[in-house]
Amino acid sequence: MSDVFNNELFEAFASASDNVYIYVCDMKTDISRWSKAAVDYFGLAGEYLEDAATVWGQHIHPDDLNVYTDDITGVFSGKKKYHDCQYRARNASGGYVWVECKGSVIRDAEGNPIIFAGLMTRIDGQSKYDSLTGLLTTQEMHYFDFASQSGAALLIGIDGFRKIVSNYGYNTGDEILIKFSRELSSLGKPEWKVLRFSGDEFLVIAFASNPQEVTDFYEEICRRTDIVSMEDGRKVGLSISAGGVLFPQDADTRETLINKLEHSLEYAKNNQRGSIVFFSEEIAGKYERELVLREDLKQCVKNDFKGFELFFQPFVNPDTGKIEGCESLLRWKGERIKDSYPMEFIKVLEDYGEIHEVGYWVMEQAIRQQAAWRDIYGELQVSFNVSYQQFIDDTFEEKAISCVKKYGANPESIIIELTESCQVEDPKELAAMFGRLRERGFKIALDDFGTAYASMEMLKWLPVDYIKVEHSFIRELAQPGHDVDYVIVDSLLEMCKRLGYYSIIEGVEDGKVADIVGALKATLLQGYHYSRPVCRKDFEKLLDENKK
Ligand code: C2E
Ligand code: MG
Ligand code: MG
Repeated sequence: MSDVFNNELFEAFASASDNVYIYVCDMKTDISRWSKAAVDYFGLAGEYLEDAATVWGQHIHPDDLNVYTDDITGVFSGKKKYHDCQYRARNASGGYVWVECKGSVIRDAEGNPIIFAGLMTRIDGQSKYDSLTGLLTTQEMHYFDFASQSGAALLIGIDGFRKIVSNYGYNTGDEILIKFSRELSSLGKPEWKVLRFSGDEFLVIAFASNPQEVTDFYEEICRRTDIVSMEDGRKVGLSISAGGVLFPQDADTRETLINKLEHSLEYAKNNQRGSIVFFSEEIAGKYERELVLREDLKQCVKNDFKGFELFFQPFVNPDTGKIEGCESLLRWKGERIKDSYPMEFIKVLEDYGEIHEVGYWVMEQAIRQQAAWRDIYGELQVSFNVSYQQFIDDTFEEKAISCVKKYGANPESIIIELTESCQVEDPKELAAMFGRLRERGFKIALDDFGTAYASMEMLKWLPVDYIKVEHSFIRELAQPGHDVDYVIVDSLLEMCKRLGYYSIIEGVEDGKVADIVGALKATLLQGYHYSRPVCRKDFEKLLDENKK
């Protein structure tokens, strides 16, 4: 072991402060030593690391990586004398903290670098109070002992805060956060602690309180903040959700408390928006399942997408009854979980970023299939689903174009469906991309039209070819008492005609509905009445029938 590491000086510096982390790198062996405080706080594999640049790079916030790399490159090339920059680094609990990183290179007689040493100082750890709201920051949580005190903790989140900011602007967003935090502080008991947890999330630690007391507190806060009056006289409606955890019975450490609070809040937001949900066995089970799903999905992606499969569901021409195309729908079976529905596993893929890789796999399979079927069954319109998150990936366009080239598919027969699982943040950019894809021949469909945030508004911005009318308007169309559905579908199809869009009606479950929408001149129909989504072999059987 190099003696640059084994000296009392390193030990002395290393234990100087909890907020300062020391590192020394032997440039010849590329082995470095990190102070124990750094290992614990950032969750490093050990005090000695090989190829620390790569290991540490993975801890740096992606938005700050360039700042760091540019600075380090400058130091090693000799352009800069000292390494000195600030960036966000990920710690052991997965959060990012600001650090100031300083260091310098020691060179040998020939000018070759031999040692790189320096220190990092946590600079946000110094702020006890949040600069915007004046509330305590999460730093304060280090001082609470959840094992020996009892009470309830509440994590309160403002519903749709991003939407509020995009509608009203950042200043209004800040004003709301300030006003909201004032209400929280004034309403809680003096011994309670109110912290700003993250952007629009607040943590209330109610010592020596029972669940009823915090539920009453939550309800009172809802009442007081359901309409917030702005300085300029405008009024903004607010809805909040909260997760609750009792300590010490449900959590006796900071880490478990935070973890359970986050899960409870997420559960509330997804299932009981606008209310408070206390941590329960059901939530625990749900998150254990999610953990398994996450691991297994990751494994399958690594394992050449083993376990993933595309199913196909026909698009039928209402006049001829013939299959003219199909939607490709993703299916997945894991080693441990075999009954996960697309809605569930696709959300996990989206939440953890793997949707990109899987999405490209789907794209490739669908396009390859379109080309392969053409020789046997003629030109079929094959669609596949893409979420907004996938579309905004920089390489999406290029991959779609190279994929049709690779398999010799006709882009005119490829329909890309934009699923509406999330709000479109930059419609102009998306519109430009749709425009470019359409110039290349691809067809674009708006999926589940009529359900999510801004379907109508999206039409104003986005150049598309197909509108897919959502199940919920269709399924009960033929049943008595559903005149409103009929009027909606009739109007939507009329709108499609006038604006020059093709239409696909989803959720056609029986012949009566097929007749109704056929008479309304829908372009294509899709639903269990014709076929459920089926595997490739079974879909080919349908195509064989279709030829007759
Ligand atoms: P979607 O794109 O709207 O797909 C149509 C869904 O409706 C499919 O559910 C299909 O099985 C179901 N369906 C079809 N006909 C009927 C019917 O007559 N009645 C009823 N009740 N349902 C019908 P599935 O396969 O469970 O997919 C759910 C959603 O998952 C899809 O909704 C789509 O948003 C998403 N999805 C599926 N595959 C992919 C994919 O490869 N990538 C992405 N990003 N999302 C996908
Ligand atoms: Mg779809
Ligand atoms: Mg759909």
